[in-house]
Amino acid sequence: MTATTTEFVPVWRPDYDARVARLKAQYEAIPQGQPIRLAKPTSNLFRQRAATDAPGLDVSSFDGVLEVDPIARTAEVQGMTTYEHLVEATLPYGLAPLCVPQLKTITLGGAVTGLGIESTSFRDGLPHESVLEMDILTGDGRVLTVTGAEDDPHRDLFYAFPNSYGTLGYALRLKIELEPVTPYVHLTHVRFDSAKDMTAAIVDIMATGEWEGETVDYLDGTVFSPEEQYLTLGRKVMDRRGSTPSDYTGMDIYYRSIQEKQTDLLTTHDYLWRWDTDWFWCSRAFGTQKPAIRRFWPKDKLRSDVYWKLIAWDRRTKFSTKMDKIRRRPAREEVVQDIEVPVDRLTEFLDFFHTEVGIEPIWVCPLKQRDPGVRWPLYEFDPEVTYVNVGF
Ligand SMILES: Cc1cc2nc3c(=O)[nH]c(=O)nc-3n(C[C@H](O)[C@H](O)[C@H](O)COP(=O)(O)OP(=O)(O)OC[C@H]3O[C@@H](n4cnc5c(N)ncnc54)[C@H](O)[C@@H]3O)c2cc1C
Repeated sequence: MTATTTEFVPVWRPDYDARVARLKAQYEAIPQGQPIRLAKPTSNLFRQRAATDAPGLDVSSFDGVLEVDPIARTAEVQGMTTYEHLVEATLPYGLAPLCVPQLKTITLGGAVTGLGIESTSFRDGLPHESVLEMDILTGDGRVLTVTGAEDDPHRDLFYAFPNSYGTLGYALRLKIELEPVTPYVHLTHVRFDSAKDMTAAIVDIMATGEWEGETVDYLDGTVFSPEEQYLTLGRKVMDRRGSTPSDYTGMDIYYRSIQEKQTDLLTTHDYLWRWDTDWFWCSRAFGTQKPAIRRFWPKDKLRSDVYWKLIAWDRRTKFSTKMDKIRRRPAREEVVQDIEVPVDRLTEFLDFFHTEVGIEPIWVCPLKQRDPGVRWPLYEFDPEVTYVNVGF
């Protein structure tokens, strides 16, 4: 008698392999010496890239979730899958990625190689810290499957990938961990009159996972001025307890609600995208926060990728630059920047920022490395230290 062993092949595998083969063929057709670029329909890079005639790699077919395993709480996801599509696939199972960056068109591959952060980062770190395995198209045209396992010959590539911004290769498939979520998130906006008090509260919540006896599942903050800052504490809840969930995708604006309400309730879906509708507060540059304009602005066009298109148009036509010249205003540069500050220097940094820069509001989001035993060489943290991401 002969025993045969058949290897288990997931249903998505043949189609995915065919897409990889087509991408490799595209790669091989790029003339020697030409730069390799991604041709993605969306981007969240603020800096303009140098123009090139070389055709980019068409990776549009790599936007899609291959499989959600609700028992193992993992997902097999293609590298160019936007978080909007990723969450759409996981929420019906009551699951979500451990860290969902706030903008809908950020892709999983982009967030792992280019970093992302959210209000779960104080407990579960950044998106790359819940990746289990990746397929990476490398600069020499191979597709390598990499993990962090001791015996994986390519584990260096796995660990160096975060913060490499595509220079080490492109992630085509990622297996990620998921966590259970509830239908709703209950929010408490706690006001602090000084950065010092807010910092002390962050330290306390990081140590206990609680605030005034209630569990904190989500944590971020908004600084409106040196005297007015809020931590928003989110708690996973199963039911509405008689409240109607708020809707910030229409006339109401989420960041303003932080100053107006002490508590709030959102569906988990709307909580995850609370910052996308008005691109934090940046939509005000397009007038969409003025009621007279917002009323007529299509609801489905209140999204960060629409604002990106407006910025691209402005850059192409130099409309703002011309207007500034007519109004005799000095030339301006748009800056969107995040930095990470050790929590014990947050007060000092915010004092400096208010005095020297003066941009408001400011977003703050605490984070800590999820696994203190791991080293991410291109994005190294002291694993014992809490940092606070400051975005402006
Ligand atoms: C205005 C602005 C706001 C932001 N807001 C947030 C935020 O709210 N939350 C947050 O977490 N982060 C935010 N970010 C950071 C963002 O997560 C990173 O810039 C991320 O890399 C963007 O992902 P993307 O998919 O849009 O990638 P892109 O912008 O398309 O590309 C970013 C870089 O990653 C590379 N890259 C893209 N996909 C892959 C891949 N599959 N494999 C390898 N390399 C790849 C590209 O070559 C490029 O170098 C913001 C950035 C900006 C500029």
